[in-house]
Amino acid sequence: MRCPFCRVDNDRVVDSRSGEDGVTIRRRRECLACKRRFTTYERVEETPLRVIKKDKRRVPYEPEKLRRGIEKACWNLNVSVEQIDNIVSAVETDAFEKHDREVPSSYLGELVMRELRKVNQVAYVRFASVYKEFKDVSEFMEVLEEFMKGRGGSAAALRRELTAGGGARPDPDAGESRRPR
Ligand SMILES: [Zn+2]
Repeated sequence: MRCPFCRVDNDRVVDSRSGEDGVTIRRRRECLACKRRFTTYERVEETPLRVIKKDKRRVPYEPEKLRRGIEKACWNLNVSVEQIDNIVSAVETDAFEKHDREVPSSYLGELVMRELRKVNQVAYVRFASVYKEFKDVSEFMEVLEEFMKGRGGSAAALRRELTAGGGARPDPDAGESRRPR
């Protein structure tokens, strides 16, 4: 495994334990070159779950895509890596429980919003604004009003917070594969 700090591919495993979901294995590794430690997560390669996109195409579920969308929404906010892990895990647990073979991308999006809402309002609004593409104006206004109420904030303050990511935009297709790699 390549070290995220010095890029050298030479490490030893310090600790291994299975994740709470029972699907992932978390390994604590120490880079033998720079002695820093990092964590990797392994999961079974064959994920049977497929994502049904808006145009009805089926693509394999890719947890990294889901995580990337969440990370973008949380960029520059007071959200820890652990909280992001927990969101990914909560979304997956729910999706795998209710859908054993195929899950609509819209369902994943709703789950992400539900979890983000618990953790950080700004991340939630960022994700929702992109995910919903402003198509459902009334629902988005509800989100905004709730947000403003919670902070006693002005429109200017909201704009400042939402753009604090320096243009970072959450992936509207979280959990989807937009183009083949
Ligand atoms: Zn290193």
